[in-house]
Amino acid sequence: MHTFDCPRCFGKGRINAFSHVIAGVCFKCNGVGTITQKSKPRVSKKFAIGIVIKGGEELFPLFHINAANVNQAVSKAEVQLSRGAYDVTNVWADAEHHS
Ligand SMILES: [Zn+2]
Repeated sequence: MHTFDCPRCFGKGRINAFSHVIAGVCFKCNGVGTITQKSKPRVSKKFAIGIVIKGGEELFPLFHINAANVNQAVSKAEVQLSRGAYDVTNVWADAEHHS
């Protein structure tokens, strides 16, 4: 089960704007302040990250990363690569194809 803050009352369990209705109790979470549901909506996909290092050599796939889209995969990869030893000239991400 996954529990997260109620998006309607921001975890407070009460909404001031509705204080004239059932004492302002948030009707989305019944005043609990959190929502619990069986599964989190999963939007992330797996991407294979490839790079070109100085000198033109291609390394693919270098590693895999979970991201919502290609752009996010590339920026996540760039953060990881900035800590690494590679002299990277180009980074790309390719969605993993599941057969
Ligand atoms: Zn609520």
